[in-house]
Amino acid sequence: MNSTIQQNLEAVRSRISAAAQDCGRSPEEVTLLAVSKTKPVSAIEEAIVAGQRAFGENYVQEGVSKIQHFAQTPHGAELEWHFIGPLQSNKSRLVAEHFDWIHTIDRVKIAQRLSEQRPAECAPLNVLIQINISDESSKSGIELSELDALAAQVAEMPNLRLRGLMAIPAPEEDPAKQKAVFEQMEQAFLALKAQYPHIDTLSMGMTHDMAAAITAGSTLVRIGTAIFGARDYGTTS
Ligand SMILES: *Cc1c(COP(=O)(O)O)cnc(C)c1O
Repeated sequence: MNSTIQQNLEAVRSRISAAAQDCGRSPEEVTLLAVSKTKPVSAIEEAIVAGQRAFGENYVQEGVSKIQHFAQTPHGAELEWHFIGPLQSNKSRLVAEHFDWIHTIDRVKIAQRLSEQRPAECAPLNVLIQINISDESSKSGIELSELDALAAQVAEMPNLRLRGLMAIPAPEEDPAKQKAVFEQMEQAFLALKAQYPHIDTLSMGMTHDMAAAITAGSTLVRIGTAIFGARDYGTTS
């Protein structure tokens, strides 16, 4: 029998606690973001019933439909929606109008648009700058050498709140190598925090590398498969 989303969530929470305790951190320092891309609202509903409140989506239109759906439900106001996919300029308005967080800021222009398009009645949009830490095949994220300049500009934007950094390292099976890459992120995060003391979020760690990420100081892990099962991109929903 397949395990339920509730059981999966419990198992993931235990893995987070164990990884935190192993390195002397408190489990409460690590937020669990449930990555629900491609999954139906019924799966998100199950996670909400099991106490999950923060969700990550990669595709603008899909994410906005889910946000609008859950806004009508009893827990709607408690939910937190994170945009974690690559963002094209022509879709920035929908992100500015509907999401609470974006993890994938990698250029000034998109940050500027989001700040201009954030509705006045909303709290500032929480933003993370994405670093391309090890995946040379990916075009997403900036080099570490570009971080100071981009952070300085984002920090000035009135309707954005710079909260920290995000990375998606290239897939790597060896936990020691995973950890070495995450430690580079930790260094960059601590250096940035020295300049902007309110910064508090280091978004790294997915299903296959969450323990190494937590050991290296992650404050937010983005978990899809371990909660919702494998994704099927082949069918339209
Ligand atoms: C899909 C995705 C995840 C979740 O990955 P899993 O391996 O399913 O846990 C995390 N972060 C980002 C940016 C993603 O696109």
